[in-house]
Amino acid sequence: MLLERGTHPRFAIGESSTPLANLSLEHLGIRYGLADCYNLATHGRWLAHFPEIRRGLKRGFTYYRHHPDQPFANRGLDSERLLVAASPHDSLSDTHWLRADVDHHFVREAIAVGVDYRDQVELTGADIAADSVRVSGTRKGSAFELSANFVIDASGPGGFLARQLSIPSGLEQTETRAAIVFSHFDGVRLMKDVVPGMPAGPYPDDWAAVHHVIDEGWMYSLRFDDGVTSAGFQLTPRGAAALNSSGAADPASLWRQLIQRYPTLASAFAEATPLIPIAFRPLIQHRLTRAAGERWAMMPHAYAFVDPLFSTGIAWGLRAVERLALAFESAAPSRRVPDPDALTRYDTALAAEADQIDRVVAGAYEAMAHFDLFAAQAMLYFAAVSFAEASQRLAPKESAAWNGFLGVGDPVLGPLPGETLRRLRQITQRRGEVGTAEERRGFAEWISQAIAPRNIAGLADLARRNLYPVDFDVLIERHALLGMSRDQLLEGLPALRGMGPPAQITSSRQRDFPLPSAELFGSDRL
Ligand SMILES: Cc1cc2nc3c(=O)[nH]c(=O)nc-3n(C[C@H](O)[C@H](O)[C@H](O)COP(=O)(O)OP(=O)(O)OC[C@H]3O[C@@H](n4cnc5c(N)ncnc54)[C@H](O)[C@@H]3O)c2cc1C
Repeated sequence: MLLERGTHPRFAIGESSTPLANLSLEHLGIRYGLADCYNLATHGRWLAHFPEIRRGLKRGFTYYRHHPDQPFANRGLDSERLLVAASPHDSLSDTHWLRADVDHHFVREAIAVGVDYRDQVELTGADIAADSVRVSGTRKGSAFELSANFVIDASGPGGFLARQLSIPSGLEQTETRAAIVFSHFDGVRLMKDVVPGMPAGPYPDDWAAVHHVIDEGWMYSLRFDDGVTSAGFQLTPRGAAALNSSGAADPASLWRQLIQRYPTLASAFAEATPLIPIAFRPLIQHRLTRAAGERWAMMPHAYAFVDPLFSTGIAWGLRAVERLALAFESAAPSRRVPDPDALTRYDTALAAEADQIDRVVAGAYEAMAHFDLFAAQAMLYFAAVSFAEASQRLAPKESAAWNGFLGVGDPVLGPLPGETLRRLRQITQRRGEVGTAEERRGFAEWISQAIAPRNIAGLADLARRNLYPVDFDVLIERHALLGMSRDQLLEGLPALRGMGPPAQITSSRQRDFPLPSAELFGSDRL
């Protein structure tokens, strides 16, 4: 049974997918016979099978550094510009999800395979007992109760179970803080038109998750194929305070104030019109101290959210779907719900991963003081995800769903985000100091050495001039980092280039895995 407070289709942000998100979608599609999941995992298959579901081409991650009152300086290959390709060509590319369409599609698919879906539900209670869960609430003014074997809280920041179970917040132990001002816009100009003559990168700059780093934080700009652009500024506490002191009255004024401070952004958004009112949220982070217990589990977005930086949300969420599905598969037949060990493992994994995402992102915010620091810190993220994707595609294993996200549990990558954050803070003094050229070079060199044992993508290479394509030659050359011989890697390469059959991760329970049932009772049925 699937319960929703609102109705679909509905507007939502959190739109940019990544290679690891799409790998999870493929796994879910193949393992559970969900063709749509498999087909939505690349831009090419999406267009072929679901052209009516709106999406945007995302070839990689594009970053620019802007300075107040100065147009973006096109200094050729010396520009403050970083492009990291995530796919070798358009058809295998990731996508931005127009969430109103995509979420509606998934709900319709769920209904089509027999899920009992109810919307406009207001949940008011959850009573978790040893053998069942009773959930109560109202729907269109009528009270109801239901009993289920298990409850998964996917309420995002809505915090349903957090309230019901009085789970304390863990936000104080985390580092990242940001406010957001955002909307969807029509008429945003392409950066290639606003800043003509930039050297060609590994893909067209604009068909990516575009990041504009500014003094107050950064802006994401995600272009859908029909030209609509999702854009939002994340403001650090220091950045927000500086703006407040000059007095922005409402979200639209705050937006204008930020745009006008940066001339290239002002050109890009000169003709842009918001499609929904520009909105402001003073704090986007949340974090709880528990993610699972007997007969309940939370999706990552209900448990914690760090930041849109590095687009970790969808990938982490889908990884959790894989994990919970495996936990249901291995449940004892007499119980039909994940056993306590699986739930403890899930809880432990999410806690460690939320901390890791927080440290990687907090380091990146610290590094925004200077673009050289930022470009170096970003390599940490790209090394972790490219290594994870290549190893999981080349040598697929069912247990990969439990691999730690962003290097958690990896003896090389695991400790790095904490160490980079410490080193960056030494340079910035936690107040945005840019450090000396020597300190910045030293940090970049240290990152390059630190990621070397997992650097299968040729990252942190000065000769690249901050333009990183997907480079299969480097991957082949570095086969030993993946524990493979050159021949083994060459054999597996089609799985990476989209030229071979998808890696088959099969299960004897594939397709006919029985879902736990939810039994309705009470005076008013839904
Ligand atoms: C500013 C911002 C930018 C982001 N950008 C990215 C990005 O670029 N890439 C990325 O991968 N991730 C991004 N994310 C994260 C992404 O939004 C989440 O990972 C994703 O939305 C999680 O999906 P979900 O279905 O678990 O939760 P949500 O999308 O939050 O959905 C929660 C659902 O629960 C419903 N609900 C809430 N309370 C109740 C209740 N009491 N009863 C019933 N229903 C309820 C809501 O109506 C909603 O439909 C971003 C997040 C934010 C905040």
